[in-house]
Amino acid sequence: MPEESLKMHPAPLLALVVPCYNEQEILPATMQTLSRMLEECKDNEIIKNDSYVLYVDDGSRDQTWNLLEEKHINDKYCHAIKFAGNAGHQNAVWAGMAQARAWDADCIISLDADLQDDTRIIPQMVEEYCKGNDIVYGVRNNRETDTTFKRVTAHLFYAFMRWLNVSVIPDHADYRLVSRPVLDALEGYSEQNLFLRGLFPTIGFKSSKVFYKRLSRKAGESKYPLRKMLSFAWRGITSCSVAPLRVAGLMSLICMLLAFIMCIVSLFKYATGDTIQGWTSLIIVSLLLGGVQLFCLAVMGEYIAKIFTEVRHRPRYIIEKTL
Ligand code: UDP
Ligand code: MG
Repeated sequence: MPEESLKMHPAPLLALVVPCYNEQEILPATMQTLSRMLEECKDNEIIKNDSYVLYVDDGSRDQTWNLLEEKHINDKYCHAIKFAGNAGHQNAVWAGMAQARAWDADCIISLDADLQDDTRIIPQMVEEYCKGNDIVYGVRNNRETDTTFKRVTAHLFYAFMRWLNVSVIPDHADYRLVSRPVLDALEGYSEQNLFLRGLFPTIGFKSSKVFYKRLSRKAGESKYPLRKMLSFAWRGITSCSVAPLRVAGLMSLICMLLAFIMCIVSLFKYATGDTIQGWTSLIIVSLLLGGVQLFCLAVMGEYIAKIFTEVRHRPRYIIEKTL
């Protein structure tokens, strides 16, 4: 089959969405690299002429916004929005996607401002899009540039998420291509606690992966210290799963089983006279009460889990095509 006939989409209007928080050290290099990349893709007719980079300044307190303003004057690829305060990486990516949708992008690619996400795979991602994939995940093929601590904790986190039945793509962060139909579908999601890498795999649509080697940060420092990383992981678990609420249910089940056995043992001891006065009634009452309390907590947990899924107000289904 000729290569052309494999293509389902023509060259798209591409928007690169780049969240920036205090990135003055690396931003000049990033802006140059990304503009050059778009220029190259445009020359190769992979993307439309009016494709652009959309920088989202997440309330930076350094020179980030001034650098963007300067660049915007003489670089037609450079567009930007600025948050009034720091709203966090996930909100910055979300805002960038919403703005790009309003500015008629056919697809967006979100990537970090520090150039850790290798920009050389952008043409490959666009090619996957042209083949009809609506989400293209950038997946790291190794973690050489990570510290042992980060490698081990990341591994444990993904294993735990899988155990909780949360669909996350291992070693994929927020480097991904998202097509317009998916951006349209995202409009229906109104949740506050965003954990995008856990959300996209649940939306559906045809997707594929492109592998890349994650580079190390060239300048500036990580905006995700250990404290922020832990709170982000906790957000991931609690935003994507109600399993922790079910812990009380599991414990009450085990407790009631043990209580039942203990009740029989203590009644047997009472019958054989192998006990002191009052022990049997005391142990039975406390075992029963413990079991009942845990059971009630479990019931409440179930209703809280229902409230959680209700207030998120996610769409019940997404229509992809209509004939
Ligand atoms: N970032 C952001 N808001 C924040 C923290 C980070 O927009 O509150 C951006 C940051 O500028 C970068 C991306 O998110 O473009 C990833 O952050 P970083 O490189 O510091 O994270 P790491 O790669 O160390 O996990
Ligand atoms: Mg980084």
